[in-house]
Amino acid sequence: MGVCGQDDWVDVPPLDEFSLDNSANSVHGRRNRLLRIDRENRRFSEIEQIFKKGWRHRKKDRPQIQCIFKVLWPESMLESYLAYRHQIVRAKDMRGNEQLLFHGTDRACLLGETRNNVLLCSLQKCSLCSILRTSFDVRRCGSKNAFKRFGHGIYTTSCSSKADDYVSNLSNDAGLRVMLVSRVVVGKPYKRYRNAVDLIGPPMGYHSIAGEIGWDLNYDETVTYHNDTIRPAYLVVYGHKEESPVTVKEFISSMFKTPLAS
Ligand SMILES: [Zn+2]
Repeated sequence: MGVCGQDDWVDVPPLDEFSLDNSANSVHGRRNRLLRIDRENRRFSEIEQIFKKGWRHRKKDRPQIQCIFKVLWPESMLESYLAYRHQIVRAKDMRGNEQLLFHGTDRACLLGETRNNVLLCSLQKCSLCSILRTSFDVRRCGSKNAFKRFGHGIYTTSCSSKADDYVSNLSNDAGLRVMLVSRVVVGKPYKRYRNAVDLIGPPMGYHSIAGEIGWDLNYDETVTYHNDTIRPAYLVVYGHKEESPVTVKEFISSMFKTPLAS
């Protein structure tokens, strides 16, 4: 009986943190793709910190984060993203420059509104659920906003208060707001200070466009032009919950746990 040499080992990469197949996420089924993160979790503080730091509009009150969900993906959806990142890492001898960036979009349903609202809807107008189901699609990006500063690409930003400008609740029952935090393979960004609305990609040797603050921009933005450059990673639920005023009758009723006669 021979002894296995080191060459016989097959190098199997560990499953991605966001994979549904990762045993760390095993409590979740394929319909429920959102995993709520506890406030005590280190990841919660990290996301909260970049959200707070990114809230740079002085005239907009910084909202409270109510909840953060991690977005889980079927392995097949992560493979192409990780393959792209790997390609950049190898090509440029760098770590792919993966960043967590914000994106605001339309929500027609009440996803994330409470900790139990975690199933993606199938409403056609719900861009949020569409993105969470199949990730970003360059062909559909920017269809809402006719003006595309850096051409036809996928727009993200480190400025949460800027992404907030694009967050829109289409349901009147929505009380909170939700924003996507995505993993973006920024690679080597090409810095631009002026608009370039006809762009369909970065120049040779670059992987993204970084819209720099200056001439035409007040807040930074990152644009990539390929679907596999990005995957949503977290959903931040924020805003101020409206407390319904508790009447004296309800208060007494709750104390004694008995309904009061009217
Ligand atoms: Zn939805």
